[in-house]
Amino acid sequence: MKLFNTMSRRKEEFVPLEEGKVRMYVCGPTVYNLIHIGNARPMIIFDTVRRYLEYKGYEVNYVSNFTDVDDKIIKKAIEEGVEASVISERYIAECKKDMQAMNVKPATTYPKATEEICGMLDMIGTLIEKGHAYVGEDGTVYFKTRSFKEYGKLSHKNLDDLQGGNRSLLVTGEDQKQDSLDFVLWKPKKDGEPYWESPWCNGRPGWHIECSVMSKKYLGEEIDIHAGGEDLVFPHHENEIAQSEAANGKPFAKYWMHNAFLNIDNRKMSKSAGNFFTVRDISEKYDLQVLRFFMLSAHYRSPLNFSAELMEAARSGYERIVTSVSNLNYLLENATSDTMSEDEKRLAEEAKGFETKFDEAMDDDFNTADAISAIFELVKFANTNTNAESSREFLKTLKDEIVMLSDVCGLIVEKQQEMLDSDIEALIEERQVARKAKNFQRADEIRNELLSKGIVLEDTREGVKWKRA
Ligand code: AMP
Ligand code: ZN
Repeated sequence: MKLFNTMSRRKEEFVPLEEGKVRMYVCGPTVYNLIHIGNARPMIIFDTVRRYLEYKGYEVNYVSNFTDVDDKIIKKAIEEGVEASVISERYIAECKKDMQAMNVKPATTYPKATEEICGMLDMIGTLIEKGHAYVGEDGTVYFKTRSFKEYGKLSHKNLDDLQGGNRSLLVTGEDQKQDSLDFVLWKPKKDGEPYWESPWCNGRPGWHIECSVMSKKYLGEEIDIHAGGEDLVFPHHENEIAQSEAANGKPFAKYWMHNAFLNIDNRKMSKSAGNFFTVRDISEKYDLQVLRFFMLSAHYRSPLNFSAELMEAARSGYERIVTSVSNLNYLLENATSDTMSEDEKRLAEEAKGFETKFDEAMDDDFNTADAISAIFELVKFANTNTNAESSREFLKTLKDEIVMLSDVCGLIVEKQQEMLDSDIEALIEERQVARKAKNFQRADEIRNELLSKGIVLEDTREGVKWKRA
């Protein structure tokens, strides 16, 4: 399995630090608003990476943070006249709802910056001790960028070029910096802002330090994959590397993965530019599975332009798979033979070729576009090679294969089936028998099971009646 490493700018063979296990950290959103579909791109992409790794048999420890202390959160809290935590908690909850609706698996851990201040104070202390950081007169702590000799290795930037071309890096209020390349680890509080005590001043952390600290706490000093959108390569990830490697004396992440932007009219979709759709906006018009399909229809390292036409194409692509699965289910219900014929055995063997194609595409730096093409080929194969004479075993083999490969992409293609009238009546009959035998536990179980499927029972003098809720 190969993946493109931003650090080496090459596709590299994936070999985890520990056999069978993957430690993965994905930079999460700053929570001051509903997430937009640009933020959804890394969520869907890296969730798919995780699902594929799990399908390959790896145990994945997946950590993704919420940045819950930040200027934008504080500004919104002041506008609404509430504590910053009210804003961040509200949007963390909303973000989790969106992720669930997009079928993004919950992370193993979702650390929040405000709950990890202790670790940040520790790491900043270590950096000062080791001579990689210094304290300004007002208590601001800066990372001494030039003290980390390998600075620039991820973004392939040269320190002198950075210095020459970026005089503007020295912004007002940061005039205690010894060098314009230095960046903030800890800064003094301003009036009305949340703050924490520290040996240097009452204040709050800079943004970069949180990821170095959370990654270390939940995954260890060295991890396998660190990921995020490509805007994070510089300075965020470059600064994370400098902090972590200077503090721990070990390489930080083995592989760096970055998704390209989701654009609109060929410009990056972003809150600040105002050219965005929230995931919620999209959910009013489309099943979010269509959004997921749309994201996976391009390679994650290529820019993707959002448009109504592409969403419509995604809708019909997704529906093609759903329809095929639903047709297979119909045939399955009505099939008359159980086991595969010799002909079907040969076809089932042939169908495995599509799984191989799918795996090859995903093994090649997660080429989800080609992986989806392999699912399409399998769908076409199933549509042409099944009919009312097909055996249950054959139909099920094909259906399971389509559902399984779609699931690796996080696509739900088998709609919950409505219960058949005959199944409902059989359960009601069983409930009556249980009640006569005074087995009320079983009788209640059956009532609840039916209720969970939207079937409501009513006990009347004429017997039990039922209706679909
Ligand atoms: P933010 O809340 O801006 O820190 O972003 C959270 C994540 O979304 C980061 O990994 C960003 O790189 C990513 N991101 C933000 N906007 C876009 C976009 N238009 N396309 C792709 N990724 C994005
Ligand atoms: Zn980060």
